[in-house]
Amino acid sequence: MKDAENVQLAEALAPIRDMVKACIQCGTCSASCPNAFAMADTPRRLWRMLQAGEVQMVLKSGSFTLCSACYTCTLRCPRGLPLTDAMSALKQVVAHQDALRFASTTLFYRKFMESVRRHGRVRETEFMCLYLTAMKNPLLPFQFAPLGLKLFSRKKLDFRPPSKGGDARMDALFQKVHELENAP
Ligand code: SF4
Ligand code: SF4
Repeated sequence: MKDAENVQLAEALAPIRDMVKACIQCGTCSASCPNAFAMADTPRRLWRMLQAGEVQMVLKSGSFTLCSACYTCTLRCPRGLPLTDAMSALKQVVAHQDALRFASTTLFYRKFMESVRRHGRVRETEFMCLYLTAMKNPLLPFQFAPLGLKLFSRKKLDFRPPSKGGDARMDALFQKVHELENAP
């Protein structure tokens, strides 16, 4: 990567680096994270990369996309650091810097939130239909088939039509968030 792009990335990551600069590497966040088992780089490692200015390592790591914003790390960090916010900011910055690589993840989030906006909660069956259709990859449904069967066998998939009434309230909520996020 060119130096100019490196500098640009470092600048974009600087506010996130500030969020975690007081990290003492105790590892409580990683030990508490329910998704750490699936992350190549645990939260603690990500904060260390940021502290060390390893922008390329952060860019290459996709571990932050596995954060489900459960806030456990934020609640348990002995330094009181805004770790969930830092994860969210990482997703936005790095996905923007490497949009092609994170295209499917971005689409996944977008379709997830579309379903939440419509029903007040995610409706897994609709959400996956929206996502798989948008991905336009005929082989992709086969990758998710084992997971779908597992969820179905445990009665975790809801095929009932959605209840009415939640749409307008969620829509107003999403509109408000949009206004706040785009306020000058
Ligand atoms: S907010 Fe994200 S990083 Fe923190 S514990 Fe939850 S899933 Fe892990
Ligand atoms: S819990 Fe807080 S201080 Fe400990 S490693 Fe995680 S971010 Fe750093």
